[in-house]
Amino acid sequence: MTTGSPFIQVWIVRLELLLVSKMTDGGGGAGTLETLHNALEAVKVLRCKVGGFFETVAGGVKSDSTGSTEDREKLFRIELQGCIHKIFENLREVDSQVAALTPPIGSSFNLGNTMFINQEVSQDRIPLYSELVDSYKWMEKVHEYSGIAGPILGQNSLKRTYFSASLNAKRRRTIASSYVVPQQSVDNSIQAIAHSYKDMEINITRPLGSNAALCITLGRTLKAVVILKGWLIEWVVVRAANEDMTKEDGTLDLWSESRYKVFQKVTDNANAAMLHFCAPTHPELSVRSFMTWLHSFITLFTQACKKCGLHLSNNMPPTWRDLRTLEPFHEECKP
Ligand SMILES: [Zn+2]
Repeated sequence: MTTGSPFIQVWIVRLELLLVSKMTDGGGGAGTLETLHNALEAVKVLRCKVGGFFETVAGGVKSDSTGSTEDREKLFRIELQGCIHKIFENLREVDSQVAALTPPIGSSFNLGNTMFINQEVSQDRIPLYSELVDSYKWMEKVHEYSGIAGPILGQNSLKRTYFSASLNAKRRRTIASSYVVPQQSVDNSIQAIAHSYKDMEINITRPLGSNAALCITLGRTLKAVVILKGWLIEWVVVRAANEDMTKEDGTLDLWSESRYKVFQKVTDNANAAMLHFCAPTHPELSVRSFMTWLHSFITLFTQACKKCGLHLSNNMPPTWRDLRTLEPFHEECKP
């Protein structure tokens, strides 16, 4: 057993370790243990045969046997061929025994010493290791995706929060200033915007404390709720003119969406426009631009689409207004 190529010996030892690790990983059941025992036996036999082969090779051509040198060499070759043939047979036996073993769940993923976490309990009862592998893979994915998302989000200029990742303190102060504004100046500016349109009525309430909630009535076309945080638009919902804007208790209904598809679509577009017009450095201007854009919906049911020239497409009026020209377009006609 001590003779033979070190490479082959190392290979066989590895095979034994693999089998032992399969045993320690669990798998359970008397049948599995028997298969494991057979597999280890097969490896043992293989070890002996390989050892025997190298002993034969080391012994060389026997000098004490009778006959010519050629005959002796021929006998030696036949003996070696016999040994190799037996080794192949044993190897096939080991292969089939190893294939019969059921690998424990999760063992395909090596997490170092934590593989032994299931040594004391059955894998079927408490699948600690497989759960550990799952969470490890999940965390790896989170890490990978956040690594990709970080740079992409870093390019986004629509920063709407107090906290900026940027170290530029001057910029941070500028953004924060759009939240902290005197209520009176907001009220005055909003009323000025309302007065500039004779068909737009804006009702200002403050149900959320210092921040204004605007209830906008646009002629007989639509109604909208806009919630401001300082000067920053935080929330927009558009509803039909005949829908209730107040809840049962008489307070402004801030959250429920319209039951009409048209106004649900206009709400979606208004949210997109709110983000488009957001300008932390010129907060008042961004609200004014948004109001101008929203006011253009006064012709929601009367103005035809700029592209196809029709009033209705897929049973919907032109629910999109161009952000600069305020021209009406159907969703599918958008430029
Ligand atoms: Zn169209």
